[in-house]
Formats: sequence, structure tokens, C-alpha cells
Amino acid sequence: MSAACPVPSPCEAVVRAEGLSKTYHGAGLPTYAVRGVDLTVRQGEFVALTGPSGAGKSTLLHLIGGLQRPDSGRLWLDGQRVERCGAARWSVLRRRRIGVMLQFCNLVSHMTVADNIELPALLAGAPPRAAQERRATLVTELGLEGRERSMPGELSGGERQRAALARALVNDPAILLADEPTGTLGGRASREIQRLLSRLHQRGQTIVTVTHDAGLASGADRVVSLFDGRVTDDTRIGDTWREDGRPTRTGVAGVLRLRG
Ligand code: ADP
Ligand code: MG
Repeated sequence: MSAACPVPSPCEAVVRAEGLSKTYHGAGLPTYAVRGVDLTVRQGEFVALTGPSGAGKSTLLHLIGGLQRPDSGRLWLDGQRVERCGAARWSVLRRRRIGVMLQFCNLVSHMTVADNIELPALLAGAPPRAAQERRATLVTELGLEGRERSMPGELSGGERQRAALARALVNDPAILLADEPTGTLGGRASREIQRLLSRLHQRGQTIVTVTHDAGLASGADRVVSLFDGRVTDDTRIGDTWREDGRPTRTGVAGVLRLRG
């Protein structure tokens, strides 16, 4: 993209955040986790959110997915203002429009892999047969054949993340949000998740993932760096223009540098 490419209107972006802020009030001093973040994610983009621990990455992802509410700022999802939506409306949005992979695997422990994957489809009103068919497709695509009847506790770390990915994708979400999907995995399992996310992206899936993993970030179109609740860098990989229209010469090597 170039400086001539205007910031899309809220309706053209899958996600648009303006001045998004979130402060936690605990026993001690308040924590300003996210401070005035502006972020636009276009359809089909793969965005890696990176930055040191405590930078506000998970909080920002949770705000975008409606798992937490901002204190201030505006948020659009598919052109719709959503920052004031209540919990019930957000659960409908998450079922229909957003696939979420949380940092600590959120599979239901007493349900089989198959049931875990089908559950969001059934909750969204899909007929059981359609949910089963979609599950079967995802099981094949994500290499989970033979694991449908297993319980989450019987899976390897990589299989658990792939099951969580299948569950996040079952309703064909407009956007996939993932919080450190390779964070707990070893090299091979991690590369498998990277490969799957890249393949989804190539097929047009919009993805926002929090990651410390240079391999995963290098597959993204854009790396957004957070520090102390603020966006400190927003770089389009392999391009010569930054989101703010200033030139950059980063490329994939830049991602590695951005990690510090
Ligand atoms: P990251 O994902 O980049 O590590 P987080 O969004 O988890 O950062 O956290 C940002 C800041 O907010 C940190 O200082 C963290 O301790 C604080 N924080 C996160 N969640 C909570 C919470 N539920 N209550 C209080 N403070 C929180
Ligand atoms: Mg985090």
C-alpha cells in the first residue's frame, strides 16, 4: 500500500478501532493496559500483534473480540459500531462473525474433540448434520483424523491447538483472533500451526494473532508492535510503506528486528 491508499472507511474494514482504551482497577494503582489504540484491519489481512509481556496485546485482542469492554474509544466490526454492545449481543457476534483462540486453550474438558468443534455451530443454530459435516471437513484440513472421539486432555499440545483452531473456524468467521497460538508449543507443532494459519490466510481468512514467535509473524502481512498499551510501530511486511504512509524498508528481516 502507499500513501495514496486512504484509510478505509469503517464499512470497508473488518475491524476498526479508534482511541481504544482499557484500564484495570485492582487493589493497587490502576493499570493502563491499552491506551488510545487506533487499528484498522482490512478484509483478508493477516496482522501479527507483538510486543513485550504486559504491553497490552491480550487486552487489545479481548477488546476486539468483545471479551472485555473498552473504557473509551470506538470499535467497528464489519462497519457496525459495537463498543457499547452488551454481553448477549457480543455472544451472538462471536458465534457468527468472530473465531477466537484464547491463550490458554479454551476447549471444554469433558466433551470430545468432535463435540467441542461442533458446539459453536450448534449454538449458532446450524442443523446437527451441517455441524457434523463442517466438523469432518475441519478435522481433515487440520490433521485431526482419528482424534474426534478423544477428550482434550488426551491430546498433545499441538493437537489441542489445532482442535481449538477448528472450533474457532467452524462458523466461518469474518475474523480469526488468536492469542499466542504457538506460545506453549515445541518447534514442530508450532510450525504446523504457522503453516495452517498461512494457508487460511492464503484462502482469504482475516487473522489477527498475538505472537512472540518470529516464524508466525513472518507469515503475516503486517506487524503491529505494542509497548505500554500504545502502538509503537505498524509495518507492512515486504512493502515500502508503513500504515501511516511513511516509508519503510523492513521485509521479513524487519520482523525479527522488531522482536528485539
Ligand atoms: P500482554 O498480553 O501484552 O502480556 P496484557 O494485555 O495481558 O499484556 O496486560 C497488560 C497489562 O494489564 C499488564 O500490566 C497486566 O498485568 C495488566 N492486566 C491484564 N489483565 C488484567 C486483569 N484482569 N486485571 C488487572 N490487570 C490486568
Ligand atoms: Mg498476553
